[in-house]
Amino acid sequence: MTLVHTTGAEPGLLGPAAPGPSPAPCATPEELPMTEAATVFVATCDLAGQVRGRAVPSSDQGSALRSGTGWVPADLAISSFGPIAPNVFGSRGDLRLLPDPATGVDIPADGDTPALRLYLADQTLPDGEPWPCCPRTFLRNAVDELRERTGIEVTAAIEHEFVLGGLPAGPPFSLQRFRQAEPFGADLVRLLERTGLQPENWLPEYGDGQFEITLRPGTAMAAADRAVLLKELVRDLARRRGLPVSFAPLLDPDGAGNGVHLHLSLRDAEGRPLLFDPARPGRLSALGARFAAGILRHTPALTAWTAPSPVSFLRLTPHRWSAGGIFLAEHNRESLLRICPTTQLAGADPAAQFNLEYRAADATANPWLALGVLLRAGLEGLVRDYDVPTVWPEDTDDSVLAGVPALPSSLEEALHALEADEVVRSWFDPRLLATHLSVKRSELAQLAGLDDAARIRKVADVH
Ligand code: GLU
Ligand code: MG
Repeated sequence: MTLVHTTGAEPGLLGPAAPGPSPAPCATPEELPMTEAATVFVATCDLAGQVRGRAVPSSDQGSALRSGTGWVPADLAISSFGPIAPNVFGSRGDLRLLPDPATGVDIPADGDTPALRLYLADQTLPDGEPWPCCPRTFLRNAVDELRERTGIEVTAAIEHEFVLGGLPAGPPFSLQRFRQAEPFGADLVRLLERTGLQPENWLPEYGDGQFEITLRPGTAMAAADRAVLLKELVRDLARRRGLPVSFAPLLDPDGAGNGVHLHLSLRDAEGRPLLFDPARPGRLSALGARFAAGILRHTPALTAWTAPSPVSFLRLTPHRWSAGGIFLAEHNRESLLRICPTTQLAGADPAAQFNLEYRAADATANPWLALGVLLRAGLEGLVRDYDVPTVWPEDTDDSVLAGVPALPSSLEEALHALEADEVVRSWFDPRLLATHLSVKRSELAQLAGLDDAARIRKVADVH
């Protein structure tokens, strides 16, 4: 729970999208600044939600940016806990990890820890053609198809909650707890500003040792790239400060969950907001309601991508302020899709701030795929004839909402829903779909027989 859910609630926050986390978005490899770092790490994020890659000497940055570094298709099948899941790629095939210059961030040297430049990469075939199983390419294609078929541009922001260990107990949301996390907090905000991730709010959350960081909105790709980078920057800084950190969906079966909330707004080609219509229920435009209908219709299958760990569904239960069911509601933190509040302070325009928040995601997801499936589902809502969803008003009684459709109760159920949803399956290269199902079933098998507390610990060890 947060008292300060400001994403989308501050003047102009969801205004035209800001560029990505870039030191020089349009620079050629030769124009990019040199780095004091000895190494440049080129990374992807996989189906296990892990960031993997390899480094080159910084003197080879130019060549890495032009032609990438080597990579292996079967890497996509590595499970969260280490072992590789059965997959169609086997020991054959080669890829390139082709860095996107716009994603470069510099982590400065700190004590004995050397500086590092980090780039996020697309996975391509050796000739540079897109690899159809690349998660980042999946998001790019989703954004492009939404634009080509509807003219719509997406603005997005992704919020993260996480738990810092090793701090004294302090009251939720308190200044005391905020200060107990220093100098980590100030260092983190400074690092995020310096790396172009555009921090918005940094706050002590409800759970023990729980904190939240929100980043300013950007294009869909910038928001997902920042989500990948944010977790690594937080982990890297916490490690250097000797603070255990976890983004796992739960750390204790009865404790507060760590959510990832994805905020979306839609604009036309001229940047005019498309979701806002003060005359309609919840002020959600007819177009916005159809976009939401697509997400609501396919939610069970979507959760196999947005909440894909063996313990993710322990968080997605009522009365946790995560997502307690499949419904769209005004200002309700138990909804799957929350219509976020707006402010008129300082003459701010509600239309520019108005956004939908998808709450059934966590940090075990791949951000490119999580955002990509939401856009694909929204597009289905725009082009198909789905039922227009109810917008539950803010004052709807919980007893009424008890009747809304339930989320899957387990990852197994979500994977079955994915297999049963022909529309969702059609968005994926069959090898990507099969690998995801295999990785997730392998992760379930690796934790089989453990009780909830033990499974939660295993997931927390790797997230
Ligand atoms: N911790 C809640 C979750 O698991 C979110 C609380 C809030 O910030 O609204 O999603
Ligand atoms: Mg929160």
